[in-house]
Amino acid sequence: MTNLFNRQLNQDMPVAVSGKGVYLFDSNGNRYLDACGGAAVSTLGYSNAKIRKSIIKQTKKLSYVHSGYFNTNVSEELAKTLSDNLPDGLDWVYIVSGGSEAVEASLKLARQYHLANGNLSKIEIISRHQSYHGSTLGALAAGENIPRRKPYEPLLTQHIHHIAPCHYWRWSQDNETEIEYGIRTANELENKILELGEDNVSAFICETIVGATMGAVCPVDGYFERIREICDKYNVLLILDEVMCGMGRCGKLFAFEYYNVEPDIVCIAKGLGAGYQPIGAMICNNSIYSLIRENIGFFEHGHSYLAHPTSCAAALGVLDELLNRNLLEKVILKGEKMKKMLNKKFSNIEYIGEIRGRGLLIGIELVKNKYTKEPFDPIHKIYNKVKFNALEEGLMVYPNGGSIDGLKGDHILIAPPFIINNRNIKEIVDKIALVLDKTIKPEYF
Ligand code: PLP
Repeated sequence: MTNLFNRQLNQDMPVAVSGKGVYLFDSNGNRYLDACGGAAVSTLGYSNAKIRKSIIKQTKKLSYVHSGYFNTNVSEELAKTLSDNLPDGLDWVYIVSGGSEAVEASLKLARQYHLANGNLSKIEIISRHQSYHGSTLGALAAGENIPRRKPYEPLLTQHIHHIAPCHYWRWSQDNETEIEYGIRTANELENKILELGEDNVSAFICETIVGATMGAVCPVDGYFERIREICDKYNVLLILDEVMCGMGRCGKLFAFEYYNVEPDIVCIAKGLGAGYQPIGAMICNNSIYSLIRENIGFFEHGHSYLAHPTSCAAALGVLDELLNRNLLEKVILKGEKMKKMLNKKFSNIEYIGEIRGRGLLIGIELVKNKYTKEPFDPIHKIYNKVKFNALEEGLMVYPNGGSIDGLKGDHILIAPPFIINNRNIKEIVDKIALVLDKTIKPEYF
């Protein structure tokens, strides 16, 4: 008997009782290798002594204070550490409790920026199909994770418009180079701005590297340069959602560092607290901050738990680990190793469409035919079977369906803690092969 309102109302959940390194243990003594960080959250495993110490130290001093009354040394220090590791100008750190809150704040900040500038009609927001920006109503409207949106469609704002994502492997035309494809796809943003009227568009929001909805899809080179150019031309703010792909997950503290682009606003969460505390942040540039400071004087927004001291202490511990233990370089090496092993293992397997991603955000797309890229019939719910078969093998992965259009397509997301070792990598690859062998039946073809 439980009084806990779970996500799945008809399913008994195992009870997790402890965590050590990259392993979780349940109350029946089962052990699970975490190959997905829950949902790409747990970047440092489950028993980091330094972070625990940092949290305890802070709670002994002060666990909570309302941000409407005080700042704290830890929130100041966290803001400074993030700003020191960002390009000049991206200096203003608004600390929240998670990814959806960071995205909500960014959409509102964009609106306040244009109000402060006297551009009252700049309301419309452009986003991309097949993206996820969170589950609160604004963030849900911004994203386009079709199954998650569907029940709430009537409640979602009509001021958000979607253009194509940048997914060369799936959507490029015959003989189109990556550069040509990137420019063509980015130009959809300009077309949409012109269709809506340049005086009406507030911001463009997208995930730098797409996580859960499409499965670790990286943009092609040139795409973000063109996006930046278009945003600048029409005074549209560029918001990058790095809730999943940021904080070292892809091998750089911020994934946009790979793409020669600087956003006006960047949203982070997940790996910022690495699961030790709930925390996120929205970081904006100097022009937005100064304009609002001079013309309005305050940001009309807030939550009770803004800049929570204990969460800030945890995040400082996490950043210390990431930046001072050469972990980011290791993420790149371990990610390359894992992709290499996956490619080797699956080179002759007909249902592996693409193995992709960056650092330790890796996607495996499952298809009926790897040459035509035809997906499996969604009726089989392969992604769901993979999740449960993997758990039976003591492995946590993050599979999703609807990778192509919200309905068709299956992929598995792998996003393990950065502390995995070679033995863990081998265990992940071997178990995924075992699980797929068990899951994919001849009748699915
Ligand atoms: N943005 C992206 C890219 C995400 O992947 C997620 C969560 O999966 C969110 C936003 C929402 O974050 P949260 O679940 O912390 O609210």
